[in-house]
Amino acid sequence: MSEFLTNETLMLATGLLLGAILGSFLNVCAHRIPLGQSIISPRSYCPQCKEVIRWFRNLPVLTWLVQGGKAKCCGIRIPMRYWLVEAFLAMAFGLLFHRYVQAPDAGQLLSGCFFVWCMIAVVVIDMQTMLIPDRFSMGGAVLGVLVSIAFPSIHMIHSESAFLGGFAGGLNALIGLLIGSATLYWIGILAEKALKKEALGEGDVKLMGCIGAFCGWKGSLFAIFGGATLGAVLLVPAMLLGRLRSGEGNSVDGISWGKEIPFGPYLALAALLYLLGIRPWVDAWFDSLGWILSGR
Ligand SMILES: [Zn+2]
Repeated sequence: MSEFLTNETLMLATGLLLGAILGSFLNVCAHRIPLGQSIISPRSYCPQCKEVIRWFRNLPVLTWLVQGGKAKCCGIRIPMRYWLVEAFLAMAFGLLFHRYVQAPDAGQLLSGCFFVWCMIAVVVIDMQTMLIPDRFSMGGAVLGVLVSIAFPSIHMIHSESAFLGGFAGGLNALIGLLIGSATLYWIGILAEKALKKEALGEGDVKLMGCIGAFCGWKGSLFAIFGGATLGAVLLVPAMLLGRLRSGEGNSVDGISWGKEIPFGPYLALAALLYLLGIRPWVDAWFDSLGWILSGR
């Protein structure tokens, strides 16, 4: 028993559980915030028959599986999206908590958990409403700068002096914020000139501020180009398939040529890919380009 209950497994279990619970809360927020409703009351109720959902029928991850994706009260189908959000957050938090055991860094753990939650909320809300609430994009950007001052280690800054470290952390966040937003803004206005139609939402530019503040300039540039690649990889086959299935028609399953497709979710997912997985390689690649900046 004692062998099983190591610090590592306990932390992993804590991360999984916390992620699942906050994933469930995210689903509530993503549904209610765009409607301007309170996220605290009333308690969760069925959208069809309005019956209040009892706590044991509202367990994150498990309920959806046990009940086969259907509500117990009236059998209304619960979209798989709810389960995916809870399962993804559980795994991401599990990873961050497990990473904490390997290299304890409270700043990276706290900011990582917050950033994952915020980005998945953006993915869900932007896909549903084509809008990114300012409290996530601008609020996240301001919070990212403040968190970077308090925990400069999230930008790989390890200073003996709290003052110098905090200054460097805040500056790194600010540089990331500005490079991320400005790069996407310029791509947007150039694309607008070339395509002669609106190519980019203001919400995406503000979102890049949040991503840059938390991930730094390397992470923000990766989010833009990685996000575009991710979008192309995921969307082009879906579009082609839609075109094939519908013959000459234009739309299947809401994806169609020329229809506006939100870019925010791809920016957010690429940022998460950077933060949770491939940061060491991306940073090393940018560092290998140092000769361009230094001229040597
Ligand atoms: Zn019901």
